[in-house]
Amino acid sequence: MRLCRFNDDRLGLVVGDNVLDVTPALSGLQARRYPFPEHDVFIEALPSLRKAIEEVASVAPQRALKDVRLLSPVANPGKIVAAPVNYLRHLEEAHADPEIHHQNQIHEIQRVGLFLKATSSVEGPSKAIAIRHPDRRTDHEIELAAVIGKRADRVKKEDALGYIAGYCIGLDITVRGPEERSLRKSIDGYTVLGPWLVTADEIPDPSGLDMHLTVNGETRQKANTRDLVIDVPGLIAFASSYYTLMPGDVILTGTPEGVGPIAAGDTLQATIERVGAMTVHVRSA
Ligand code: MN
Repeated sequence: MRLCRFNDDRLGLVVGDNVLDVTPALSGLQARRYPFPEHDVFIEALPSLRKAIEEVASVAPQRALKDVRLLSPVANPGKIVAAPVNYLRHLEEAHADPEIHHQNQIHEIQRVGLFLKATSSVEGPSKAIAIRHPDRRTDHEIELAAVIGKRADRVKKEDALGYIAGYCIGLDITVRGPEERSLRKSIDGYTVLGPWLVTADEIPDPSGLDMHLTVNGETRQKANTRDLVIDVPGLIAFASSYYTLMPGDVILTGTPEGVGPIAAGDTLQATIERVGAMTVHVRSA
């Protein structure tokens, strides 16, 4: 199932080049009052909503995908957990390029651990990336994003795939510089999630997916998730050994080699096998 959030927070079921508006399926979601839950209630309820989505889909109005504005498929992630240098060839390019490492000690992920991006940095592909510091190098990073489906506390690697609701493409947009990653990567709009959530049953094994990113039609990043240093189950085990992962938490699994600068006026095309493709524009802030 490919589920998108579009226009004014409508829920869509993506079928081919079309979106079926299945928003009425959300009527089963419980109304919430303060204090609001710290996780995404739609992702939490997804297993029980699937039947309603299928029923509503049979009579749903349909629109062309190209005519809707795609928002982040996760509306309220509680955490954006991100993996630094999780592909060896990206570690090598970071070591080789002072504009990437900025005298920061760049170590392999087993030593660095994970970092968090502000949830306020999340946007969907329809919103152009607004370059906040045009005087500084700002890079694209394409990553497979795994969305947690249920509460995960100290999960074993061998059980970890069972905690995933689905996958989407993540763009971890990054200002290069000497500051902490969480500062440089948490600018408004610098976490692009899209184009939709592909439910985990459609990708039983996330370890062999081709990914590709172009800027203005030119290939910059081309890799496969089989080359992850710590794979998706390993990242869930690692993260959940420190903090409880909740429904809607997003794991950005790390970027492969080929990172490079973007500027206002650029157009990014990001593709991950079995997930989909999205076009994202870059503008000045
Ligand atoms: Mn990254």
